[in-house]
Order: sequence, then structure tokens, then C-alpha cells
Amino acid sequence: MRKFEYLRPEDRARAVDLAANPDVKLLGGGTNLIDLMKIGVETPEFLVDTTRLGLDEIESRADGGLRIGASVRNTDVASDDRVRERFPVLSAAVLAGASGQLRNMATVGGNLLQRTRCAYFQDVTKACNKRKPGSGCPAQTGANRELAILGGSEHCIATHPSDMAVALRALDASVLIETEKGAETIPLADFYRLPGERPDIETNLPYGSLIVAIDIPAPRNGARSSYVKVRDRASFGFALASVAGVLRVADGRVAEVALALGGVAPLPWRARVAEAQLMGAPAEPDRFRAAIDAELEAAQPRPENAFKVTLARRIVVRVLNELAGATREGEAS
Ligand code: SF4
Repeated sequence: MRKFEYLRPEDRARAVDLAANPDVKLLGGGTNLIDLMKIGVETPEFLVDTTRLGLDEIESRADGGLRIGASVRNTDVASDDRVRERFPVLSAAVLAGASGQLRNMATVGGNLLQRTRCAYFQDVTKACNKRKPGSGCPAQTGANRELAILGGSEHCIATHPSDMAVALRALDASVLIETEKGAETIPLADFYRLPGERPDIETNLPYGSLIVAIDIPAPRNGARSSYVKVRDRASFGFALASVAGVLRVADGRVAEVALALGGVAPLPWRARVAEAQLMGAPAEPDRFRAAIDAELEAAQPRPENAFKVTLARRIVVRVLNELAGATREGEAS
């Protein structure tokens, strides 16, 4: 591991000031960044610790939503009563990620910015357009079982590893940031970039940004939500495919729906095609299947990951069936 300097600013203004240095990496819980430094993928000269900036609170918003500070630990998000009551999909998604020890350390801001676990990205002896632009993407014809079926490009088919971000995408969350120019809010819908020709640029964060908090708007009235993740082992594994679903059924028809997929794309994938088909349709399994099939028409599976198309279809139908059933029970009670 290369030498680096550890800095711990006492206030946000100083942290923003330091963030403008290209040799700086902002440090949250360090559960991904430190690992990447150990294997030589990240080589910052300065690590700026952002965990002492007073960004570790969860606050209720006037509209019934929540503001979650960037330094709140994942465990504290998942166990917060307000999160569990208003946004069970978020609590479930966080608990589906990593291990208890890692969740105790990992922060909300760091979770959003964690890097892909593509094996080539993490091996500095291999080519990788994300790590070294223009060097190539061996995953296209190599080991791509865990990689993307939606949203990839000939330059990169890495998946985004976060579970939390998938739930936040379904909940229409926004990211609050600060830069030298002031405060700004970026909807999560605009936060991540598809790889295109520049897989090394993963977000639309302005240069020198400090993530301050996540804003989640009030829960949709009467909607149910849940998160299902499929992975190779029962815990401590990244998603092969996951879905965050939010559904409200009224008079047997879909009145509100949000679907976000994880483990299948370079970013938390909002299934807008499926949602458009579902709105106003009968809340029936056939309609659920047809909607996700329409979404997955855009899939471009590689030889090793074609199974993800079937997997994504099945977990989306399962989640929608369960949520529709729960909604009906709620109406009856
Ligand atoms: Fe690198 Fe992306 Fe290709 Fe993986 S898929 S080798 S991260 S360019």
C-alpha cells in the first residue's frame, strides 16, 4: 500500500475545500475505499475523513419523508423505527447488503459511491476501461456471470453493487451535496451515469462534491413496499438480481407502482417501461409478467449471464404478487 496522509476536518467548509484537490479521496466508513487502496486500484495522496462533520442524524421532513445524513451508518438506517415504518423497502435492502460488521462501519454516502466488484476492475494486472480508460474490457467475452444485462456498453458491463441505492431509486430519493459553489440537490435519477464510452465517470457529481444527506419524500399513501435479492449465498454476497418494489392497488388495479432493479445494470435500474405498462392495469400475475417482459426486451445478456433475464423476471413477478396480496389484505382489514 502506498503512503497517504489522513486528514480529519472539523467542519463542512473545510471538507469541501479539501475535496477540490484531485489527489483527495473522501473517506466514510472505508469499507470499500480502503480495500481498493490495499489492492492498488485507488491511490489517493490524502484521505479526508468525513465522519466527524455532524452528518450522522436521521431527521423527519415536514412532508413525512426523511433526511438521512451522509455519515449515518448502514446499521442505523436499517434499525431506525421511522425507516422501518415508512420505508420498509429501504430497511430490507440495507439489511440484505454485506455483513453485520460491515454495515456497522459503512456510511450512506459511501454506499452510494462504492465501486463495482467486477473482477477485472479489482485486478490491476488486467485491462479495464473503468480503471484505465482505453485499455479494454475483457469482461465482454470473459468472466461476465455477475455483470450487467441492461444499460451496458461495448466499453463496460459492470454492475453497481449497492442494495441501498436500489431501494432509494424506487423511493425517488435525492442526494444533497455541497461544493465550493454552494448546496445542490441531485435526484438519484440523475446521480448515476451509464458507462457509454466513459465507464470511468460513474456519477454526475460536480467536481469537489461533499455528499451531505439523502432526502426521501413522504411514502406513497397506502402503498406497500419490499425488497428481494438473489445471490449466490445466503448472506454477505452481491446481488445477482434484486428488486425494490412499491405498489398500491385500488379496486383491483395498479394505482401506484415503482420498480427498481439491482445487480443487472451499471446503476440502480428504474423499470420505467414495466411501470408504464402496469399503471391502471389489473393487478394480476399475467400483467406483472407482461410488464417485466417488456422491460427486459432491452436486455443484452452475455454468454455467462443470460440466466439473469429469467431471474429478474421471476423476482419482479414475485414481489408484485406479494405486494398486491398485501394490499388486498390491507383493504379487507
Ligand atoms: Fe472494467 Fe467495466 Fe469491463 Fe469490468 S466490465 S472489465 S469494470 S470496463
